[in-house]
This record gives sequence, structure tokens and C-alpha cells, in this order.
Amino acid sequence: MEIVKKDLIIRKNTSDSLMSTEFRTCPHCNMPGSKEILNEKPDTGSAFSLGENGIYKICHCDNPQCGKNFFVHGKVKVSTGYVSNIMETYFEYPIAKTIIHKSIPPNISDLYAEAIKCLNLGALNASSIMFRRVLEQVCDNKNSTGDNLPEKIESIIESTTLKRMMTLVKNFGVLANHDDRYDYEIEPNDVPKLQEFIEHLFQEVYITPHNLSDLESTLSNNKK
Ligand SMILES: [Zn+2]
Repeated sequence: MEIVKKDLIIRKNTSDSLMSTEFRTCPHCNMPGSKEILNEKPDTGSAFSLGENGIYKICHCDNPQCGKNFFVHGKVKVSTGYVSNIMETYFEYPIAKTIIHKSIPPNISDLYAEAIKCLNLGALNASSIMFRRVLEQVCDNKNSTGDNLPEKIESIIESTTLKRMMTLVKNFGVLANHDDRYDYEIEPNDVPKLQEFIEHLFQEVYITPHNLSDLESTLSNNKK
């Protein structure tokens, strides 16, 4: 089995403390808050003279619906003076985390979660095929029109950049199915980009419209 490169970084975040929320947010279920730390060890390789070391942590998610383990690596990136150091969080396992939002239909979230599972196992072709299926399902869910996927994409997406992203998701899905139109093997660093594109799609099609109408109704319900 092909293993995704160890230095692949999907989630990184800067924070001023080892106790930042990002460190404690479970990458499996996205639940913030305290997690049980099973083991930890300082990373002296990234130490700065002013104090804090980086850290390796093995954590257990205490959300009863999840209960999975994850492994984070906090690196000190920049020393900012006497107050604090800037930390970067690297989820080393799982490499990718799922996105869960109430505005995304459950069948689509499930497909996406399966794609992420494949990615975490290093199954690059399987995850690329799953990302393409996610795209197809979004088109169906949004009542797209057209006879093929490019036409469907065209009918539901306005942004030129997002259309280009979805064309890539579609083409990598085709490539992963061993179509002979391409002479290319998918590389470990390609698939996280597809994941990022799908997240843009979710944002554009579900999450942003949801948050927009949420905030609009907050204002109109509180008009004097
Ligand atoms: Zn969890």
C-alpha cells in the first residue's frame, strides 16, 4: 500500500500557546475542548532560547460518539520576544480531518467522510474517486441541469476559480479510475489539494449561504 508522505500537512494553525483550542480539537469529529492526553514528549528540536519547546502528543477524544485517537505535533515556528512563541499545529494522524456542518446533506457528508478515510489510509485513487462522487452528489442535490458533469458544474457554480477546481476534481476522479486519457499516477500531495477544493465547494454551496441567511434573519428579527 502506498503511504502518504509523513511530512504532509493538512491542518496547520498558528497560536500562542500549547494549550490552544486547535491542539485540543479532535480532527475526527471536530469537537473542541479537552481531550485526554495519553502520552506526550517535548520536541527539543524546535526549541527556542526563550523557553517553550515544541511537543508531540497522543490524544484520545472524549466525545462518546467518537472516542478515536489522534497524534499532534506542535512546532515552535517564530520567537516573538519575551511574551510568547508562535506555535504551529501539525496533525500527523489523522492527516486529514472531516468537515461537518449542519447545512451539508448527510448523504454528502458521509461520502466525504469516506473519501477522508481513504486519504488517511493512503488510498490515493480511492479517495480521488470518492471526491468526484461527492461533486456528483452536490450537483444532484443542487438540482443541476445538463447531460454530463461539466455541464452540471457549469449550471450550479458561478465562480470561475471554483469551476476550475471542480474540473480538476472531476479529472482526477477519471484519472484514478485508470482512464487512458492521462499518463500520470496520482501523487500523495495531489489528493489533499482535491480535498481543499471540495471544502471550497461546501463553503460556497452550503456553508456560506447558510451563515448568510442565518445572520440576515438575526438582523431582521431584531429590528426596532
Ligand atoms: Zn473526536
